[in-house]
Amino acid sequence: MATVSFRAVEKSFGKFKIIHGISFDIADGEFVVLVGPSGCGKSTLLRMLAGLEDIGAGEIAIDGRVVNDIDSKDRDIAMVFQSYALYPHMTVRDNLGFSLRLRKADPALIDQRVVDAARILNLDALLDRFPRELSGGQRQRVAMGRAIVRDPKVFLFDEPLSNLDAKLRVAMRAEIKALHQRLKTTTVYVTHDQIEAMTMADRIVVMHDGIIEQIGTPLELYDRPGNLFVAQFIGSPSMNVVEGTLRSGGGASWVEALGRKWPAVPNPGGTDGMAVHYGVRPSDIVPTASGQGIEATVVVVEPTGAETELLVDVGGQQMIVVIHGRTSAQPGDRIGLQIDPVSAHLFASSDGRRLQ
Ligand code: ATP
Repeated sequence: MATVSFRAVEKSFGKFKIIHGISFDIADGEFVVLVGPSGCGKSTLLRMLAGLEDIGAGEIAIDGRVVNDIDSKDRDIAMVFQSYALYPHMTVRDNLGFSLRLRKADPALIDQRVVDAARILNLDALLDRFPRELSGGQRQRVAMGRAIVRDPKVFLFDEPLSNLDAKLRVAMRAEIKALHQRLKTTTVYVTHDQIEAMTMADRIVVMHDGIIEQIGTPLELYDRPGNLFVAQFIGSPSMNVVEGTLRSGGGASWVEALGRKWPAVPNPGGTDGMAVHYGVRPSDIVPTASGQGIEATVVVVEPTGAETELLVDVGGQQMIVVIHGRTSAQPGDRIGLQIDPVSAHLFASSDGRRLQ
């Protein structure tokens, strides 16, 4: 196992700088997820750590050793890709043992590691099959098995579940997490899927346009997003956001937006009259009778069984409300929305930073 450090890491392709001085540390045994929209640079950062891409400036260290000039194969890492990268003409057994054979490891050790990995990943019965005879999930497990047999200091995953259907993705997510709990190998995992990040990570690094927007545990990012970007990226459905003006007076604070008064905690960290973005998560809104709370009109009702999603119109802007359970509300109904001021998030409109 190992620590990983990024120190002022930069990267350009031609004249385009795509990583702008990134620094953070990963603790021994930690599962860190790099997440962000397409093109934010997360794969490039992972590829620099893997040694598949030169480090433009700054330093990357694995277990305290700077690896900038160390070959990928000598970094003691194992990477699992979205495409699985299995050898089609080799059986599962040979795929699993390939990297150790390449290193001329003792055949008895190779056999032992392959059998161990197969047991951990439930591949025992499939060792003599070829990749074409496997399902997508089984192929993905073989790809992980190839990483495990090497017993690396660090596991790297680059969107490993993107090719799987939704149900299998959920199952594999749990398998990778269970695997990490068992092996405790330091892991860096790249995805654009914030649900994957939320469910798997010890800590999440949210990236955007080649910088880090915020680092924290999943619930830290969910409960106290540091800026508007993180607020809207983390959480599904996304946080509702309205633009308005902060008002404070008589010991109370609120936001005026869409012709309505939105409750805020007293003294939320901005000045009276300041332009703000007011955010509230769909599950933090409680629908109630018309005349109470913020006036809204139901547009669409979407039951999913355990929950119901309401699309509502508030003064011309659509918002989402998630109710635990069911509702008798119908499209066209006028309702009230109640928001507990402590669940509201306030951001400065000027630069998106969190107030409070
Ligand atoms: P995705 O989720 O779409 O894979 P990402 O966040 O992983 O996105 P990167 O693949 O790291 O993003 O790419 C970051 C930026 O660098 C993109 O704008 C991409 O077009 C550019 N880029 C990546 N690799 C190269 C390359 N070899 N040559 C030129 N530009 C590149």
